[in-house]
Amino acid sequence: MTDLATFAADRGIRHFLFSFTDLFGVQRAKLVPAAAVAELAANGAGFAGFAAWLAMTPADPDVLARPDPASLLVLPWQREVAWVATDLSVEGVPLEQAPRRVLQRQLQRAAALGFEFRSGVEAEFFLLDPLQGGVADRLDHQPKPCYDQLALMRRYPLIRELMAAMEELGWGPYQADHEDANGQFELNWTYAEALTTADRHAFFKVMAATLAEQHGCAVSFDPKPIAGLTGNGAHLHGSLWDGNGRNLFHDPCGEKGLSPLAYHFLAGLLAHAPALCALTNPVPASYRRLARADTTSGSTWSPAWISYGGNNRTHMVRIPDGQRLELRLADGAANPYLLQAAVLAAGLDGIERGLEPGPRSDANTYTDPPAAGTARPLPASLEEALAAFRQDQVLRDALGEAFAQAYDTLAPRRLG
Ligand code: GLU
Ligand code: MG
Repeated sequence: MTDLATFAADRGIRHFLFSFTDLFGVQRAKLVPAAAVAELAANGAGFAGFAAWLAMTPADPDVLARPDPASLLVLPWQREVAWVATDLSVEGVPLEQAPRRVLQRQLQRAAALGFEFRSGVEAEFFLLDPLQGGVADRLDHQPKPCYDQLALMRRYPLIRELMAAMEELGWGPYQADHEDANGQFELNWTYAEALTTADRHAFFKVMAATLAEQHGCAVSFDPKPIAGLTGNGAHLHGSLWDGNGRNLFHDPCGEKGLSPLAYHFLAGLLAHAPALCALTNPVPASYRRLARADTTSGSTWSPAWISYGGNNRTHMVRIPDGQRLELRLADGAANPYLLQAAVLAAGLDGIERGLEPGPRSDANTYTDPPAAGTARPLPASLEEALAAFRQDQVLRDALGEAFAQAYDTLAPRRLG
């Protein structure tokens, strides 16, 4: 366990950002000077819960945020500041609706079953003109802009900084590309234990926004920043491992190299998909990304149906290889912690109940949609997804009723 005061002395840290992510995915923080860090780490930094999206009232006592040293990192662009994720409590009791807590509880549930959840996330984003909106790079206007080498390299000054930062942080970045929309990019880093990935995902959003600003751009993780262009996904690649570092999803004899356990997990994702959307696709714009064919590139690459395929990007779940499942449903508005928690909760239910996903479809669902009665459509709106979440008692019980009720209360605020 890292002692923050010692860390500050060793690394020349002047300030710590005590950070937490609220229910709407907004990242909040207090800056704590190194001289005060020992005391605040022990007692917690105080926040007025109502001032963030935590479903609390102005009359509630302080939320205390205590750092989790496992998440500690030094800002690569400002090395006198360290960032640390915190865990929230009120009067000594954990705040059950805090997203990081919701994920931790799900990971405990998995651990009790003998599983470690490992995941990677693909946090697509746009670089926009901060004053006028629209794609920042006016030269980036090909109708099929994916992998455009020139547009990628015009952003090299920013991308190299992001890559270098991730290397310094030990995330193992391994590729960057221009994505399928003008102005859209994706940087990939190596998968890890799910809480680590969620912390990284949360921090990546801050880091990308900060460094992009320094390069004169605004970042958008919005699910559909520009009508007519492909949206921002946040695809999640997940697998369950045992305590000996063995991937339990892999089975060389299984269909597409996956084990029966992986298929039960997949069936859980399909079974809970409508309610899952309330968390993986949490804003009205999420439903302008899903189920649309109207992009200049010719594809949205996002799903319309509750279905799965092999290495086929038109389905909600893709099986890229015999190691993992890719959930293509989630978008850039998903809360990094609730995304992982919801996926795990749904998957574990599939395992516990031994659900089967039914036959795989190898169809191009964009041109060849599932025959009537063979697959359900995804919710068409946030209203529909929230209604499904209210009715999905299994998912609610898994995520905790305190969280579910907090989410019921707050989420309709996003309907506008
Ligand atoms: N941007 C697409 C989406 O919204 C995904 C493109 C891809 O497969 O990388 O899901
Ligand atoms: Mg992508």
